[in-house]
Amino acid sequence: MQRVRLHDKDFELFIPESEVNAAIDRLAGELRVRYNGKRPLFIGVLNGAFFFAAELVKRLDIECEITFVKVASYHGTRSTGKVSELIGLNERIEGRHVVVLEDIVDTGNTVRYIMDALNEHHPASVSIAALLFKPDAYTQDIPIEHVAVRIPNAFVVGSGLDHDGLGRNLPGIYKIINSGQ
Ligand code: 5GP
Repeated sequence: MQRVRLHDKDFELFIPESEVNAAIDRLAGELRVRYNGKRPLFIGVLNGAFFFAAELVKRLDIECEITFVKVASYHGTRSTGKVSELIGLNERIEGRHVVVLEDIVDTGNTVRYIMDALNEHHPASVSIAALLFKPDAYTQDIPIEHVAVRIPNAFVVGSGLDHDGLGRNLPGIYKIINSGQ
């Protein structure tokens, strides 16, 4: 499928499934070298990372654990602006090697929040692995050490990523057409 309409927006195929798979293969190789023997704990950030997490860990023939969290954002009742909360982290992470699995890193605000929240529990190490990374939009100084695909600053869907609930099931990555018009 070259084009798809989701709600009121049109998207065109940007990265075919075969290229996404090849990028995840490469990333799995990188993580295998770094974490073999360390029994890493992979933490997928829902909803978007379900696809990436599944595709990645099935390629990793090392001893590892996987769990999922959700970042809930809401506006506080006081004038403190946006408040975030990490939901669902039940594992003890003290002394563990943790790898956060993100579907996409854009401004990096989510990564910043998750890193700060995890570091309070004193893990041995924390790194980020992202299916997609938009370097031109990134505003944080945390290194995104493991990236499957770097993309320009455009809105994309597919492979777990949605537009208002739709598109997560599309294989490959689709880019919005005529954004901003
Ligand atoms: P950040 O905090 O890095 O700015 O944004 C992270 C979150 O924004 C992602 O987890 C994702 O939910 C959403 N996001 C950022 N860029 C895109 C995009 O191009 N497509 C979709 N579907 N979501 C995006």
